[in-house]
Amino acid sequence: MQTRSQGKKIVVLGTGGTIAGTAASPTDRAYVAAQKGVAELLAGLPLPQSFELVSEQVAQIDSKDMDLGVWQALLRRCQHWLAQPEVQSLVITHGTDTLEETAYLLQALLAPTKPVVLTCAMRPATAIDADGPQNLLDAFAVAAEPGAHGVVVVCAGRIHSAFDVQKAHTWQLDAFTSGEAGDLGQVVQGRVVLWRNWPVSAVEYAPDAIEKIANLATWPRVEIVLSHAAVTAATIDALVAPDVAARFGAPPVRGLVVAATGNGTLHQALEVALQRAVAQGVRVVRATRCAQGRVWPRPGDAWPDSQGLSPVKARLALMLSLV
Ligand code: ASP
Repeated sequence: MQTRSQGKKIVVLGTGGTIAGTAASPTDRAYVAAQKGVAELLAGLPLPQSFELVSEQVAQIDSKDMDLGVWQALLRRCQHWLAQPEVQSLVITHGTDTLEETAYLLQALLAPTKPVVLTCAMRPATAIDADGPQNLLDAFAVAAEPGAHGVVVVCAGRIHSAFDVQKAHTWQLDAFTSGEAGDLGQVVQGRVVLWRNWPVSAVEYAPDAIEKIANLATWPRVEIVLSHAAVTAATIDALVAPDVAARFGAPPVRGLVVAATGNGTLHQALEVALQRAVAQGVRVVRATRCAQGRVWPRPGDAWPDSQGLSPVKARLALMLSLV
């Protein structure tokens, strides 16, 4: 852990990602993520002088490999720091690949009344045109903003809510979208401009419920299945078969999120298999595989919809409801 200066604190938690990645040369596009420590990423940046900075390395991973253990560690450190009265806000450096899942999980569980700002980069720290330093500065602008609260993602000058943010591009610097909900705001030359309100959770978790989740040895198993042309029931039947799970040493499936076609429609082959799964006690939620829009419920729907959450976030919501 490293500290600097005095007064109210901004705590920076490092988890790895491309923002901490290194390449063989400044122009090399091939790189390895999660190489530089978070203190090194902050060194030399013109960060706000009015705050004491504390940095802590919680993990050092490529976020494509995010797992429940890292989430639990991050959850604990966020909970710890947010509870300190002298802490103004948290900044979390993270890979872009699963950023939206971490953001959603932290917002859903912590519903923080202080800002928790996740930031990232599409180019490694050693790149001649690295985007991480500016993203970090923008994240600090949001972290220092009076009245800010909730979990947000700051990338390429845009501020996204944890509920809506989604990685939408494989390589462009402005890789994230909030879809039709729209960005929360933007950071322009160090100033925060807000278009929408900061994220607020409908459900609040009690501290002991968070404690329980932070200590679970295994989380309820929820899988995502895709509805597509010529799909077969066999995938779902195999997923929910207890003997198949046991053969692979996996816990039984307790929930399924279906990335459905269009406005939540399912291939008839899946409908039949899902009914068998439900009869076995498996919970089913429908999200959409469309990049834009949400599943709007219709009278007589057989399966609940994901309330606007993407399949990966609907999976987390269902997992949390099964704890
Ligand atoms: N694979 C990297 C990660 O998610 C990608 C990135 O950070 O942009 O950690």
